[in-house]
Parts: sequence; structure tokens; C-alpha cells
Amino acid sequence: MEPKPWRPRLLLHDLLLFLHVSLLACPCSARRRDGSTGVLRESFLRCVARRSPATADPSRLVHAPGDALYPPLLNSTIQNLRFASASSPALLLTPATVDEARACVACCRDHSLSVRARSGGHDYEGLSYRSLSSPNFAVLDVAALRSVRVNAARRVARVEPGATLGELYYAAAAASGGRLGFPAGICPTVCVGGHLSGGGFGPMMRKHGLAADNVVDAEVVDAEGKVLDRAAMGEGLFWAIRGGGGGSFGVVVSWMVNLVPVPAVVSVFTVHRLLLRRGGDDERDLLRLLARWQAVAHALPDELFVKAAMETKAISSILRPLVVFKSLLLGNCSDMVTQMDHHLPELGIKTSDCREMDWLQSMLYFYGYTNGQSPEVLLDRTLQPKDYYKIKLDYLTSPIPAAGLTKLLTKIVEEKGGSIDIDPQGGEVDPEQLFWSEQSIPPLFVDKRDDELVSDS
Ligand SMILES: Cc1cc2nc3c(=O)[nH]c(=O)nc-3n(C[C@H](O)[C@H](O)[C@H](O)COP(=O)(O)OP(=O)(O)OC[C@H]3O[C@@H](n4cnc5c(N)ncnc54)[C@H](O)[C@@H]3O)c2cc1C
Repeated sequence: MEPKPWRPRLLLHDLLLFLHVSLLACPCSARRRDGSTGVLRESFLRCVARRSPATADPSRLVHAPGDALYPPLLNSTIQNLRFASASSPALLLTPATVDEARACVACCRDHSLSVRARSGGHDYEGLSYRSLSSPNFAVLDVAALRSVRVNAARRVARVEPGATLGELYYAAAAASGGRLGFPAGICPTVCVGGHLSGGGFGPMMRKHGLAADNVVDAEVVDAEGKVLDRAAMGEGLFWAIRGGGGGSFGVVVSWMVNLVPVPAVVSVFTVHRLLLRRGGDDERDLLRLLARWQAVAHALPDELFVKAAMETKAISSILRPLVVFKSLLLGNCSDMVTQMDHHLPELGIKTSDCREMDWLQSMLYFYGYTNGQSPEVLLDRTLQPKDYYKIKLDYLTSPIPAAGLTKLLTKIVEEKGGSIDIDPQGGEVDPEQLFWSEQSIPPLFVDKRDDELVSDS
């Protein structure tokens, strides 16, 4: 089966979290003390050796331009090829332990290097590995910190930033016999380091909130190289790191997350509405359908998520607008048909449109593997092909009027590709809470007994 990976181009998501992206609080305006890369590297190596005595060979984690490993390591997770040659950090740091990450941050401070934290490298604008404001920066790549330890009985997981969403989903399902999942995004290679820092939305958000809503503790390396857990960092910083934007407040070296119960059977559908002729009854019907969908999508039962995407399809070499409705119900197909018939009969969902599967498979389905695939594919850290893309996010607080929808359908064809995805929130993601006050935070649950956690990857 030919996988159809998620192809980002031009997106309109109904998500806008706190767009605060800045460098870690280091004295980043100062120039680097050392005149040459080699001198900087040697000095940095001595610093790491001093601050992390357990590191037998600091050169394993300190890479400077000119080193053989610098280019392949730097490029390893540059996902957006627009920035493939736009990054030249003074140092690339690849710690393998929390202590090494802590030492690296402290040494960056000692050397007046600002820090770009990188976990999976999916940042739309490459902010985890490039800097427009300061040439004196280091990339702190925490991809090697990637363990996922699940305690199914307690419904929690301790997950390191370099773990991918796919690894977390797989581990949660494997450790619980498919009873537990995690509400986050659809791209399996996105890492939890950046994803949870920015919020993290996905098909279960209406039932269980954003990924960040399900964080109950975290360990962060602050600008002085101290490791702070929730109690040590305080509730203000703990609130900020869950949605305040990656790289803004410190380097997260682990999250403790609540896992959520998922039913043995969930159901999905994908239906297409192709617009062959503009300006006639077909277009009016499609606009009416989109208007109706906008009116109900955020107010459906929390278990039901129905998103819409505007795309294009070539018919006889001419691009036509295509609207794709994709849905997940935490329930079976009989419930799906009943719910859709009740809330959005205009879409005409029939039993034959609906497919039942387990939750893990549904995450693959949303990613593009619609014909079934071994769940082990979720463990492939290179599943998402690297590509050139531009993605913009916006937050809709009122429906797009018919004239606006018409323009979007025209625009998507003019752009000759790309897509405009609209993800409805509501349910557990309350826009009032999101913007005007603190998003609901789960009750304090600090489980220090990590030895009880089961290692799954
Ligand atoms: C193909 C694709 C699909 C996506 N799908 C979804 C989706 O379904 N839902 C959704 O919500 N989002 C989605 N995103 C957006 C994605 O969640 C964010 O770009 C996320 O920040 C990526 O995290 P990362 O660790 O992989 O990226 P990185 O580029 O490594 O990091 C992103 C940001 O977080 C910072 N950061 C990284 N690691 C840490 C850390 N350990 N501590 C502190 N800050 C850190 C970086 O400095 C940077 O600012 C998608 C992105 C792509 C490219």
C-alpha cells in the first residue's frame, strides 16, 4: 500500500496558542568570547568535562563547523527543506543524558551562546535550529533523550522530549492492551519536546483537551543549568511551558503526562466533495454544507471530531476544489451514523462510509494510512518525508462567511496545491479559557516513583 503522508503546504488551523518565541534567557547579545571555532570548541569541551564529570568523552556531544559529524547531525531533523542550508550554529550539542543537557546549557551561558532547543525539528520556521537575531547560538539537540516509560495502572507516562508522538502512542497502547492513548497531533514523527511546549492539538482534543492540558509534571533545565521539576519551578513557569511556545522558558528534559482511556473500537470516515463547476447549484450546496458544518462542528458531542480540509484534485488536467471531511468518533460505526444523522445530516454519512478500528490504527488513518498498516510504522522516526513548505496558523472565532469560503476555494486552486485545514475545537478546548484565562490544568499529580514506570521503548 502506498502511504499518503501528511503534506503540509498552506494551512489554516483553528489554533493560536501563545505565540511567544524567544531565546533561552542567556546573555545572548554578547559576542562570543573566542575568536575561532576551534578555540570555542576546546573551551566548551573543558566546560562540559568540568560540569558533567560522568561524561567520559565530551567530544561525543560537542560538534563545531568543520567537524565531520556536524553536517549530518545538523541536517538529521531539519524537516523543512526551505531551511536546509540556513542554519549555522556555532556549536551543535547532542547530549545523551539529562545531566549532559544541563551541563550544555550551563556551558552555553558560560560562553555567551544563546540556545536553540531542538527535539524533532518540525518547527514550521526552523526556529529550533536557526537564528536570525544572533549568530552566536548553539543548537541543543535533545533527540537522544527519547525514553517513554508507561505506568498503565496509574495511567501516566514519563516521556523525554526526543520521543516522537508515534513512539508515545505505540507505548501507551502496548503497555495497556490498547486501553490507553494520548490526545495529541496526527504526525507520528513530531516530537513531544516541541509539541507539548506549543499546545498540541489532534482528533481527541474535543474529548480530552490539548496535549499540554494532560501534562502533570515536567523537568526543565533553566538558563543557569538547573533541573527544575514542577514543585521547584512553581506554578507560573509550569503553566507557561505548556503552550507558551517551545524554547521560550527553558529546555524541557521530560514530561509526565496523563494517558487517557480509549475504547476498544473507534470509528472513522473520510468523505470528499469535489466541485466540478463554479458558480452553480453544486457550489451553493457545498457552501451550505460548509456553513452548516461550521455551525455544529465545535458543538458536537465531545467524542466526535469532524474536520474539514480544502484541497485540489486534477480532473482532466484541470485543478478543481475538493473539500475533505474527516472524522473520528470514540465509539462504533452504528453510533457514528446515528450522531452524524442527528447533527449533520447534510453530509449524508452512511454505514458504508464508516470504518471501525482500534485507536492506534485511527492515528495512522488520520496521518494518511487509510488502508491499514502495521502499528510498528509509528516507530519509524523518518516516516514523514522532508519537504519544502510554508504553514500559517490562524484562529477562527466566528464562521467564515460564504463569500470568504468562495474566495478560499478559488485561492486553493490558484495556489496549485496545498491545503487549508480547519480543525474544530469546543468540548474540552474552550476558547474562552484558551485566550482569556488559564487553560484548565489537571489536578496536581506528581509521581516521583519512576522506578515503577514500565520501560516500553
Ligand atoms: C508534518 C507536521 C505535522 C504536524 N502536525 C501537527 C498536529 O497534528 N497538531 C499540532 O498541534 N501540531 C502539529 N505540527 C506542529 C508541531 O507540533 C510543532 O511544530 C512542534 O513544535 C514540533 O515539535 P518538534 O520537537 O518536532 O520540533 P522542534 O523544531 O524541535 O521544536 C519546535 C519548537 O519547540 C522548541 N523545543 C524543542 N524541543 C524543546 C525542548 N526540549 N524544550 C523546550 N523547547 C523545545 C524549539 O526550540 C522550537 O521553538 C505539525 C508539524 C509538522 C511539520
